[in-house]
Amino acid sequence: MGIESGLHLGFQEQISTGLTASASPILDEYDRVIVAFSGGKDSLACLLHLIDQGVDRSKLSLHHNLVDGRESTLMDWPVTEAYCEAIAKAFGIPINYSYRVGGIEREMLRQDSATAPVSIPTSTGVNRVLGGNGPLGTRRKFPQVSASLQSRWCSSAGKIDVFDRYLNNEEMFLDGKTLVVTGERAQESRSRANYKQFEPHRTDNRNGTKVKRHVDHWRPVHAWTEHQVWDIIKAHRVNPHVSYLLGWSRASCRACIFSGRNQWATLREIAPQQFNTIAAYEREFKVTIHRKMSVVAQADAGTPFECDPFWVEVANSHEFNAPVFVDPWILPPGAFGESCGPT
Ligand code: SF4
Repeated sequence: MGIESGLHLGFQEQISTGLTASASPILDEYDRVIVAFSGGKDSLACLLHLIDQGVDRSKLSLHHNLVDGRESTLMDWPVTEAYCEAIAKAFGIPINYSYRVGGIEREMLRQDSATAPVSIPTSTGVNRVLGGNGPLGTRRKFPQVSASLQSRWCSSAGKIDVFDRYLNNEEMFLDGKTLVVTGERAQESRSRANYKQFEPHRTDNRNGTKVKRHVDHWRPVHAWTEHQVWDIIKAHRVNPHVSYLLGWSRASCRACIFSGRNQWATLREIAPQQFNTIAAYEREFKVTIHRKMSVVAQADAGTPFECDPFWVEVANSHEFNAPVFVDPWILPPGAFGESCGPT
């Protein structure tokens, strides 16, 4: 792998040399390295790459954002949290969780009310709740299929803002240097291709007068192809998230608003309750997720993936009882498949 090998420049050096496109951080300079871990292949590749680079595992942790919070089951794969937990345990790395209380569903159902508070981890191991006193507003519709984060507010309200609140409010981040690692790849979309590989994180405030917070952001797999991602997962023999084993090419929300027809058709087959709840909300709101087609029309036009009933059961469980490491390792059916997902 090692596509960044030989280029280990600090951020300031990159600014002066203009080498931001391909440089990488000096891992030893950081007091903590946090992988924003969705459970999907790209964040898994980030974790495995860090391990291959010899990162000090005592500084390493995983952070997962629960898009449904702890109250809803509308959007996500039931097994995702347990899978993330199993990966963390297998590699001996701590994991913590943040979420918007009530998840995407509560935000979607807002009527003359404020956006819900966030629950963020603390160093005591117990989450604390922040916010919830913003301006009143009404949504009463799904996030819309759009590149704009304002229309597809699920990413910002459910994930981006929640993670930022964690970094901005947890005292630990005022001490020393933090490296946040995320798995966006240029190959995924034009907008992701424009992301920098290494830059100060948006919560960075290293030059602040009152509050100083040094947070860098590294996207180690930004220049990788999907082949390289699967290669590193294969090299470590890690069982990928069950979504790939069922035919999905991404492990984002199971009911992602960007789902294609075949994904909606498969969701209807393997998780009818989740699908029907979404279809019922579309009818209630009289606004569909897709501009022209309801999820029912999309599912009708699609063809369900051929799913192994064993993996369907794993996917629908809140426990992950399958092995984390598998030998032989087999490329999952979802690899190199339909790439419907957030951009
Ligand atoms: S995965 Fe899809 S539905 Fe989930 S937050 Fe991202 S864009 Fe929204």
